[in-house]
Amino acid sequence: MSRKTVKTKMMTLKGIPVSPGIAIGKAHIFDEEKYIIPKYKIELESIQKEITKFNQALQKTKNELKKIQKVFTDKIKNEKLDFFKMHLLILDDPYLKDSVLIEIAENNKNAEWALYDVMSKHINSLSNIEDEYLSERVADLYDLAKRIMKNLLKKRENRLSDIEGKAIIIAKNLAPSDTVDMEKSKIIGFATDFGGRTSHTAIVSRALEIPAVIGLEDVSSKVHEGDNIIVDGSNGIVIINPEEGTLKEYQTAYNIFQKYSEELKKIKSLDSITLDKKRIKLAGNIEIREEIESVINHGGQGIGLFRTEFLYLNRTTLPTEKELFAIFKEAAEKTKPNAVIYRTLDIGGDKFGEAFKITDEMNPFLGYRAIRFCLENPEIFNTQLSAIIKAAYYGNGAIMIPMISSVDEIIKVKEMIGKLEETLTKNNEKFTKDIKIGAMIEIPSAAITIDIISKEVDFISIGTNDLVQYTLAVDRNNSKISHLYEPFHPAVLRLIKTITDSAHKNNIPVHVCGELAAEAMATILFVGMDIDELSMSAIAIPEIKKLIRSIRYKDAKILVNKVLKLNNAIEIKNEIRKFISKNTPEFLYKDTV
Ligand code: PEP
Ligand code: MG
Repeated sequence: MSRKTVKTKMMTLKGIPVSPGIAIGKAHIFDEEKYIIPKYKIELESIQKEITKFNQALQKTKNELKKIQKVFTDKIKNEKLDFFKMHLLILDDPYLKDSVLIEIAENNKNAEWALYDVMSKHINSLSNIEDEYLSERVADLYDLAKRIMKNLLKKRENRLSDIEGKAIIIAKNLAPSDTVDMEKSKIIGFATDFGGRTSHTAIVSRALEIPAVIGLEDVSSKVHEGDNIIVDGSNGIVIINPEEGTLKEYQTAYNIFQKYSEELKKIKSLDSITLDKKRIKLAGNIEIREEIESVINHGGQGIGLFRTEFLYLNRTTLPTEKELFAIFKEAAEKTKPNAVIYRTLDIGGDKFGEAFKITDEMNPFLGYRAIRFCLENPEIFNTQLSAIIKAAYYGNGAIMIPMISSVDEIIKVKEMIGKLEETLTKNNEKFTKDIKIGAMIEIPSAAITIDIISKEVDFISIGTNDLVQYTLAVDRNNSKISHLYEPFHPAVLRLIKTITDSAHKNNIPVHVCGELAAEAMATILFVGMDIDELSMSAIAIPEIKKLIRSIRYKDAKILVNKVLKLNNAIEIKNEIRKFISKNTPEFLYKDTV
């Protein structure tokens, strides 16, 4: 009997958008393979046979992984493949192997049972720790255990590459090795119950440019094989069995997106310049090292925001200077001659790490966050500063300080860097002397005193995510008041204009690195306000470049003057929409604000 004869009614689910684009197609449920694991005690004379069986399965798994790693490297150019490397490292770990052998030789368990017990023990102890990073490592371990078990049981693999025709994959979870198997011609999109923005599956989907929404919680139980599905990877929406009108709307959006993607490929290597020849630099924002190459592959002119605090999260100890240096150096080397802007530790607010022991606060966003934390913890801060200035030597690095509220904080950081330089010089270390220092302008007090701050820095970068929340007193993470989080509020726009004009008067370049940099409607204003650099997630770069190349700076300037005189966000956005309709109508679909 078929699982279902009548299609369920249209249903819309919201999840985390991890890879943009639209996919429309039939669902294929990718079921987890369930093995029955034989468990029996073995006789003394069978021990060697079981050990050989286990060793063979281990070797086969290794060969498979190496093959997958190669396919992946071929498919995704130079993408860093730490997770396959990590799987291989786990396989080579004598502790894992010895634990299984002990279970076989001393406890007389058959190989499958021994493997099951050892892996379950590891997986359970890691799963009990509440930590996003570790839960992703649990997924790695689980994926690996399944792979070895399949080889022990001599089962054939359930592979995504075996799928016939085109499909949208619906799964509880997808392992990196599942994702890498995806052929773009067959797998047109996917949606899963689990996963986070930094999960490997998310990274791979972006690298393969397959539209994907993850973290949908229960998509796998709501969708049936063969259901019609829309995956809107740009907005994190999955629609099950869409009605005709919705389907038509998305088909139009799909056609526009496809046309765009083709055009975007062509403009990747072109200059980011308006029709009347005004240049605006486009750089990438990164959180993890895997994104470095993605920025380069999308035509980013450097890294405009390296959120370094992500290197401190999901761990119980602080990273050493050596660890930080290795990653910072990699970024500098890969990005040169373009710049890497290392944003110093922005811990606190909504980002906490076990390693920091920050106590609970009533208002963490107004509390012990970012530079406030760093100045109170000079050891942690000095370690990071030292790693940055040493790494910068291998490319073109700069330092950027978050959550500046007054110039005094910048002066203190400069004093610390000065002392560090003395020590490094004494120790004959290689480092960038007089590294460029920038302030993030995210707090109104810094915006209002920008003339003072400009005299102490080499550049400024406007963090619009925080500037909006601090200017409007609207918590950026509180969904109850999200309708009040309005980046087009006249107060925000006036502030950005004031910051830019004042910094320019002092010959200081101005960057924008908040999410707003990649919002088409805001980008146009930034062009008209003379912003020098926009930094955004890698995937947004080509599209924003296309927008910049299709407008005139002169017109954008006129638009800015007009909107700055308007009374509220509604009027302002309508004025920008008029501009888009007239000058670059293909961007109307990007009206997401
Ligand atoms: C910002 O506030 O706009 C910003 C870029 O920093 P973050 O989002 O990391 O706070
Ligand atoms: Mg910020």
